[in-house]
Amino acid sequence: MKFCNSIFHPFYVQHWLAHHKHVVIDTKHIGEHGKCSEHLRLKTLQQYPKNTKALLNSSMGMGANISGLIYQYALLVFTPLPYCGLVFWYDKPWSLLTYLLPSLLLPLSTIYHKYLHMSDVSRRKKIPWCFRWLLSDAGDQVVKKHFMHHYMNNDRNWNFIVFADTITDLFDSTNLEPDDRTIEYMKKLGLETE
Ligand SMILES: [Zn+2]
Ligand SMILES: [Zn+2]
Repeated sequence: MKFCNSIFHPFYVQHWLAHHKHVVIDTKHIGEHGKCSEHLRLKTLQQYPKNTKALLNSSMGMGANISGLIYQYALLVFTPLPYCGLVFWYDKPWSLLTYLLPSLLLPLSTIYHKYLHMSDVSRRKKIPWCFRWLLSDAGDQVVKKHFMHHYMNNDRNWNFIVFADTITDLFDSTNLEPDDRTIEYMKKLGLETE
């Protein structure tokens, strides 16, 4: 039990307790800079002293350095998701794509995660050439889906993983489109909606 806890808890802290909370209470700063304010950063580090490393390696759940990436891939080894693809392989060979591919891409998505949180203006200004595809229509969908992941249906969309929604839609259609309320809120934050 303790072993499992030491593997899963840091991610829970960095992703759910830190990042998801920061996005809601520090929307403006994150929208502009792609990271939470220094004050909130220090407060979070004090709040979770046992998870300092996880928080620092993931920039408060916003990204990942090499150690953070290695940790996230190690985490996949312990989660059932990648194995679902193997279990269903016998019946439906393409199920491997549904579970395995998005799982493998998940940690990599943390590299461009912060750009998904920026306002439209900041994203256009700060995005490096390698992630400029995020400014395309398809990229815009990724941004929208990630926004939804934070504000609603956060148990549904694969959101920030490119093509993952398309792949999961082959099996079931649990991926949702933004409703009017969400779109309205996104407009307020300067996120382009059309
Ligand atoms: Zn999340
Ligand atoms: Zn996020």
